[in-house]
Amino acid sequence: MATTKQRELDLGQFPPGTVTEYNTFVCLACIFDIFTKQLRLAPRTAFSEIKRHTPTIDELTSRGALRPYFDSDEKSPHCPYCGSAKRWLARFDTFCIEGGKTTDAPRRELIRKLPKADDQFVVLEKKSDSRVVFFEWLDTLGLNLDLNDQAWLVEATRKYLERREPKTNWNEMFDGVRVVRHSSRLTEGWERDGARLFLAPHLYSEAILIQYLVSRSHAHGGMTHEGRLTLMDLIRKLRYSGYLKRAEITEQDPGEVFERVVDHLAATHDWSRVGSAGVNQKAAKKATKKTSKKRASKSKKTSKSKANLPEPEQIAAEPVKLYYLIDRRNFLDQLKRVYASYAS
Ligand SMILES: [Zn+2]
Repeated sequence: MATTKQRELDLGQFPPGTVTEYNTFVCLACIFDIFTKQLRLAPRTAFSEIKRHTPTIDELTSRGALRPYFDSDEKSPHCPYCGSAKRWLARFDTFCIEGGKTTDAPRRELIRKLPKADDQFVVLEKKSDSRVVFFEWLDTLGLNLDLNDQAWLVEATRKYLERREPKTNWNEMFDGVRVVRHSSRLTEGWERDGARLFLAPHLYSEAILIQYLVSRSHAHGGMTHEGRLTLMDLIRKLRYSGYLKRAEITEQDPGEVFERVVDHLAATHDWSRVGSAGVNQKAAKKATKKTSKKRASKSKKTSKSKANLPEPEQIAAEPVKLYYLIDRRNFLDQLKRVYASYAS
């Protein structure tokens, strides 16, 4: 039998933030119960039916799982439906890989190397878009941060920068960073000064936005590097920092501005492409189809200016393909063991 170490998938080739892992438990006692009592199948038939079973993407990734599935962070989980202990439980590990330029090659390579027998791994594909992907990323980020510990603010900024600029070694850049500040000197990029990391205004604004989005349901208003902000405070800061102008957001109503700002953040899923003018113009052309002539000509002007990093275009979300790699090995092992004790 393989050790746990050998069984772990190597996901090191994927840029940070492009793979989301989900763990879902399934209770084999419950599943056997459903197949033998409700569907009245003989144990042996039930076994071969269950063996072929792969939960749906929704069942594997939703935050509120239904019987016989459940989520648990405990070391020795119990089935919440029938109370069965660990030996009756199996785990599905699901890795959602965002399709795209930076992930296509490592994904193909990873899948090529996986064992094929018994459907130990199953890959399901789903069409999605950058908006859905962005909110899923935000949701996962929020779940993995301890919002009661101030350090989460710096951590959230790091996660955002990892996603936006995957080519930079952010572990190194953030080593020893205690404060993240807005730079009044830089127009692009970032710089370290001791324990402080300075970000160009638009990057800093987006970091604040991410923090606001992550914490607004936790706190009254959102917690950010700028302290606790209401929506009005946030919009005011984004306006003064020049972020709204840069993103070509001209609305006045705070609710509308906020919606546009979120659209803007969510419109491009692969931020690494934003830096290359050719790709961006193509993307902008595609995205501006729905926008007015006035805005289209404006964005053309923006991408011409070399001093400005072209911004992702707003409104239209980009299509993104998601690949769900489902690891069924634990499920198959546990199922065989449970069936052996069931049949004896
Ligand atoms: Zn159960």
